Amino acid sequence: MTEVHETCDVLVAGSGSAGLAAALHSSASGLSTLVLERTGLVGGTTATSAAAIWIPANHHAAAAGLSDNRERAITYIRAAAPEGWRETEDALWQSFVDEAPNMLAFLERETPLRFSLMNEADPHLDKAGAMTFGRMLSPAVLRKGLTGPYARILRRPTLPHLFTFPEMLDLDPLHHPIRAAFKMWPRLFWRWLAGARGMGTALVTGLLKGCLDHGCRIALDTRAVAPILEGESVKGLVVESAGRTRNILARKGVVLATGGFEWDAGRRERYFPGHCDFLGSPSGNDGDAHRIATAAGAQLVHMDQANITAGLPIHASHRPFGLSYFFQEPNAIIVNRHGRRFVNEYRFNLGEVIDERDPSTHQALHLPAWLVSDQTLLKNSPIVRYFAARNPEWIKRGQTIEALAKATGLPVDELIRTVERFNVSCTSGVDEQFHREIRILDAEKTTSERSHLSPIAKAPFIAIPFNRTIVSTKGGPRTDAGGRVLRPDGSWVEGLYCAGVAMANPFGTWAVGAGTTLGPNMTWGYICAKSIISEQG
Ligand SMILES: Cc1cc2nc3c(=O)[nH]c(=O)nc-3n(C[C@H](O)[C@H](O)[C@H](O)COP(=O)(O)OP(=O)(O)OC[C@H]3O[C@@H](n4cnc5c(N)ncnc54)[C@H](O)[C@@H]3O)c2cc1C
Repeated sequence: MTEVHETCDVLVAGSGSAGLAAALHSSASGLSTLVLERTGLVGGTTATSAAAIWIPANHHAAAAGLSDNRERAITYIRAAAPEGWRETEDALWQSFVDEAPNMLAFLERETPLRFSLMNEADPHLDKAGAMTFGRMLSPAVLRKGLTGPYARILRRPTLPHLFTFPEMLDLDPLHHPIRAAFKMWPRLFWRWLAGARGMGTALVTGLLKGCLDHGCRIALDTRAVAPILEGESVKGLVVESAGRTRNILARKGVVLATGGFEWDAGRRERYFPGHCDFLGSPSGNDGDAHRIATAAGAQLVHMDQANITAGLPIHASHRPFGLSYFFQEPNAIIVNRHGRRFVNEYRFNLGEVIDERDPSTHQALHLPAWLVSDQTLLKNSPIVRYFAARNPEWIKRGQTIEALAKATGLPVDELIRTVERFNVSCTSGVDEQFHREIRILDAEKTTSERSHLSPIAKAPFIAIPFNRTIVSTKGGPRTDAGGRVLRPDGSWVEGLYCAGVAMANPFGTWAVGAGTTLGPNMTWGYICAKSIISEQG
């Protein structure tokens, strides 16, 4: 007999986007809900994020008169997906598309969160079903104080979230911090005084406020470590807290939402062999959901998928500043270990290409890779300058391209050839290799004359490591379209659900738009709770 220390209806492990969305839905439906959070802070990676969410066929788009709908969204996802995904993921995509708009409306009904559409097109505009506007949203600022004493234990972002995401894009404070602050100062000053914040801080504030309002409890410094099994069903979780082990039963269901496994060095090396610069999540994200689900008989899939970018060297915890496009500069190119360019540097989701593998060996094809540029990048990018000053070893320098090649270990002749070829493109205005001069701007797919081509010519030349920064891995327990965790034979591990980047994500390293992680994460949390609610009748 298992000694029972506590009982609730729904037990959620993890207080990020997926966990809080699941907890919000179950507690709003009257189920007693307990969220376990391994660290002393609420919000996980989500609280540090930019909080862009991709939600097709949403009510804001409908109010703006846009003609998005379920079929169009599914057509787009199917068209954008790499070969082989549709066979296993189609049912999950359909479930996501069905529930994402409901989830968004539910958030705005049950929490103080308010979203607005961002002026962003789907990145794969050449695919059927793509929209030039209407699927990407971001939250307005919220006062952290709405959560009462919890305001002090919201996980903080690397830089304060004083701007909203649209303001970040419009004002570009990463390149022009003084100009942006000058334009916004009355509002920024008010936000600073009032403790009002945007992006991930606003998202977690709103989700948490909704959960607390519905009576959901949060247990901090409490780590889920194992399933409580009765026969083959999951009945609760064994947790560790303050040096004690306790058993918590869940009458209706357990939702695993503990984030990715990127901080498990063994698994990371196994599924992402080769160069990795930084990790983008809190260090507690080391795959507990994966261990718990496996102990309950689950099948793990998509383990080599992740949200990948290139990061900046934040001190101490090695977190990147994040998805700032510090690398998309007119006078910068990305070269592979052979000293050759391998991608259009302005491409959406560069991580997908950084992580390209040799199909037979599964080793990274391009790594170690480098961002090669010159003095002008440092002059134009205060954020890179700042981190370079704090981390003298981070950037390699050379008075000539030859010296730079020697400093990085790249082949000298090849790097000289690559830079010369790129500089010729800058003179002609045509990047014959990757057509970086062309950028899809709007519905008419017109192209910009605005140059993304500026020569790498001003010594000292610089090279920045450009390997994987893993924000979150995206493989995990396979689920059905209702978030139920499945065994290898396809049967359900009764009582167990999984959401967010902990689950075998139906969107892997590839992405359908900015916000492909958080929009689906919250939707899967919502779906898990919906399944639990409906299974109880
Ligand atoms: C700077 C930055 C910007 C980003 N911007 C965007 C964006 O604009 N749009 C987008 O879609 N994505 C974005 N991302 C990615 C996105 O934030 C993450 O993929 C997402 O937050 C993961 O959500 P999650 O709920 O699955 O996990 P998390 O938010 O990481 O939450 C998991 C939680 O589980 C806890 N936990 C771990 N183990 C246990 C355990 N055993 N028991 C209890 N709790 C446990 C962790 O401590 C953590 O709090 C960004 C990421 C970064 C770093």
